[in-house]
Amino acid sequence: MATTHNLGFPRIGARRELKFALEKYWKNESSRDELKALGATLRARHWHEQAGLDYVPAGDFAFYDQVLDMSFTLGNLPERVRNFHGDALDNSFRVARGRSAQGAEEHAACCSGVAAGEMTKWFDTNYHYIVPEFDANTQFSLDASRLIEQVGEARAQGLNAKPVIIGPVTYLWLGKAKDDSDKLALLPRILPVYAALLDHFAALGVDWVQIDEPALVTELDARWRDAFVTAYDALSARRVRVLVATYFGQLQENLALACKLPVDGLHIDAINARDEIEQAIAQLPDTSMLSVGVINGRNIWKSDLNATLDWLEPLHRQLGERLWIAPSCSLLHVPVDLNSEVKLDADIKSWLAFAVQKLAELGVLAQALNQGRAAVANALAENAAAIANRRTSQRVHNPAVQASLAKIDASLGKRQSAYAQRADKQAAMLALPAFPTTTIGSFPQTPEIRHARSQFKSGALDAAAYRQAMKEEITRAVREQESLGLDVLVHGEAERNDMVEYFGEQLEGYAFSEFGWVQSYGSRCVKPPILFGDISRPKAMTVEWIEYAASQTSKPMKGMLTGPVTILNWSFVRDDQPRSVSCHQLALAIRDEVLDLERAGVRIIQIDEAALREGLPLRRSQWNDYLRWAVESFRITANGVKDETQIHTHMCYSEFNDIIASIADMDADVITIETSRSDMELLDAFDDFAYPNQIGPGVYDIHSPNIPSREHIVDLMKKAAERIPAERLWVNPDCGLKTRQWEEVIPALQNMVAAAHALRQSA
Ligand code: GLN
Ligand code: ZN
Repeated sequence: MATTHNLGFPRIGARRELKFALEKYWKNESSRDELKALGATLRARHWHEQAGLDYVPAGDFAFYDQVLDMSFTLGNLPERVRNFHGDALDNSFRVARGRSAQGAEEHAACCSGVAAGEMTKWFDTNYHYIVPEFDANTQFSLDASRLIEQVGEARAQGLNAKPVIIGPVTYLWLGKAKDDSDKLALLPRILPVYAALLDHFAALGVDWVQIDEPALVTELDARWRDAFVTAYDALSARRVRVLVATYFGQLQENLALACKLPVDGLHIDAINARDEIEQAIAQLPDTSMLSVGVINGRNIWKSDLNATLDWLEPLHRQLGERLWIAPSCSLLHVPVDLNSEVKLDADIKSWLAFAVQKLAELGVLAQALNQGRAAVANALAENAAAIANRRTSQRVHNPAVQASLAKIDASLGKRQSAYAQRADKQAAMLALPAFPTTTIGSFPQTPEIRHARSQFKSGALDAAAYRQAMKEEITRAVREQESLGLDVLVHGEAERNDMVEYFGEQLEGYAFSEFGWVQSYGSRCVKPPILFGDISRPKAMTVEWIEYAASQTSKPMKGMLTGPVTILNWSFVRDDQPRSVSCHQLALAIRDEVLDLERAGVRIIQIDEAALREGLPLRRSQWNDYLRWAVESFRITANGVKDETQIHTHMCYSEFNDIIASIADMDADVITIETSRSDMELLDAFDDFAYPNQIGPGVYDIHSPNIPSREHIVDLMKKAAERIPAERLWVNPDCGLKTRQWEEVIPALQNMVAAAHALRQSA
C-alpha cells in the first residue's frame, strides 16, 4: 500500500479569512481570543479537507509565518522583545511587524515600537519569511506548546497527525547573524532543543515527524554539508520516526548526503527532481521510506494522472510499502479551492487544480496504486479528457503566435546604434538639463480613483464615465508635475489596478481567478493572473492614455509599460512549455506596444522589470541560462525603436551587484533603481563594473512616509557621482508613488527638484 500525506496546507483560508481576522485584530476591532478561535476554525476546516490522507500535517498553520513560529518554538526571540509582557502571539507580531494590536500595546512605553524583523523570500517562491536573528550569544530553549496543541487538535478530529518543523540546518541557514558571527557555531546549542522536541512528540505517541530541510537543494559548502551529518547523528535514536523533506529542486551533489542521513524517510520533489529518484532508491537504506512529491505544489494545473501512474506504478512495485506519495512541496503556494471560482471560463476551469483539488488527485493516484486503475476508472477518464482538451485547445495554441516566435532572431534585440550615438541623438531631441528629474510611474492611488474603479466594476459607472474620471486624475498628475518643475513627466498610472494585471487583462492568453489568493507575507496575499495560452495583443493597451497625458503638457511624457520578465514572474505560468517560451511571447506582445507608442510620438518609453531578479534559479549554476533568456526577452521588447527614442527600465530590489553585467546587457538607455535606503551602498557594484549607460539611483525611499530633505538628496547624489559620471545621472525616487499620499509626495518631490537645481549650480 502506498501511503499518502501532505507537507503543508495554505492557512490563509479560501476567502482570506485569516487575513481579515489578523487585520481586524491589529486595528483593535476584535479580541485576541477571537483571532485564536478563527485560527482553530481554519485548522479544523483544513484538516477536514485533508481527512482522506494517511498523515496530515500539524504545525504548518501559522498566524503570520512558519519560520517565525519556529523561532518561538526554539526560544530564539530577538533581544528587543524578550522582556515584553503578555501573550506570545502579540510578541510574535511585534517581531514580524514592529507592533501587535493597539490593545495589546497597553505597556506602550516598554512593549511597543520595536523594529520589525527583516523579511526575505522563501527560496524561489513569492512567500516571504521573517529572518531568524542570531548572534554569538544566542541561546535556545524549547517551547513545544504550539505544536503539542496542533497535534492534539488534529487527533481530536480522528486524524493521524504528522508534526511539521523546519530542520536545524535549514533553520540556521535561513537566519542572519547580526554580529557577523558564525551561525553554524550555534549548531551544538540548537540540537539538544530539537532532540527534546522529538522526545515530546515520542511521548505524545506521534508516529512520524516531518523535518523540512529544503536547504539541501541549494549549493552548500563542506561545512554546511557536514552540519547535516552532525545534526542527524545527534537526532537519531529518538523514539519517533523522522521524514526529512526536501523540495523546490534537485538534490544533485547533496543527494548522497541526504540518502545517508540516519533517518527513516526522505521526501523528494519529483516535479523538479524526478530523474534523481532512481539514484535515491539505489542509495537509501532498504528500510527507509521514500516520499515522492508527485503533484506540483507550485502551480495551478491539473496533473496528468495517467502519465504520472505510468512512472509511479513501477516504483510502487519496486518499493511496495516503502512508497509514500505527496504534493511536491507545501501547498502554501497555491490557492485553496477551485470550487470558489464561479466566474471562471468552464474550459479553463476544467484544466485547473487548487490545493483541495490537488489532494483529491493524490487520492486518485493512491487508489490506483493500491487497488488498480480500474478502481478509479471514471476519475482517470475525466482527468484524461481535461488534459487532452487543454493540450489541443485552440485557446491555448495560436499558430500566428508560434509563427512570430519562430521568426525571432538576434536582430530583433538589437538597437540600431550603440549607446553613445543614440545618447547624442536623444540629447539633441530631448534637450534635458543636467541631473534630469523624473518619477517612476505611478502617483498616489487616491480614494477617488479606487472609488471610481469599484463603481466601474460593479456597473454603477459606465466605461465612458470611468475613462473620464481617470483622465481627470491624469490631468491632475500632469498639473502637479508641471508645478513641481519635473523634467520628464509620467501620466501617473491612475487607470492601472496593478502593473501586471492591467496588461494581463488586455492580452489574449490570460485568465483571472476571483479567489486565487496566495500568501505573500503575514496578512498580505497576491492573486497571480493565470497565463494559460499563447500570448497575443489584440490592440494597443496604453497608447490612448499616454497620448492624452502628452497632450496636457509640452514637457516630455514617458510611456509606461511592464516588461515581459516581470509579467511572467508575477503570474502562474504554463507547465506545457518552458518559461523562456512564454517570456518570448510576452516580449513580442509588449514590443508591439513599444512600437505603437513610438509611432504615437512618445519619445521616452519606460519598461519596468521590477521582478527580474526574482526569477533567478535557486542554484547559481543555473543563473546564466535564466539571465540569457530574460535579458533577451527584454531586448526583444525594447530594442526595435529608433535611436532617438529613449528606453528606460526600472528595477526595485536590493542587491543587484551580482547580476549587474546582465543588467547592462539589457542596453536600456536609462535605468532607475532603488538605492536610497542603503545610502547608495548598492552602488558598490559600480566600483568593479563600469555601467555604460545612464542611471537614476533612487533618492526618496517611497516605502516610508518620511520626507527626504534637499540636503539629504544632494548628499546621496554626490555619493552617486563618485561612482558614475555626473552627466549620466538622473534624479528620481526609488519606486512608484502609488502607495503614498499627495501631501507627502509634493514636499518630497519639491525637495528633489530643488536638490537637482543645487547640483546643476555646483556642477
Ligand atoms: N511603474 C511602476 C510604478 O511606478 C513601477 C512599480 C514597481 O517597480 N514595483 O508603480
Ligand atoms: Zn519599483
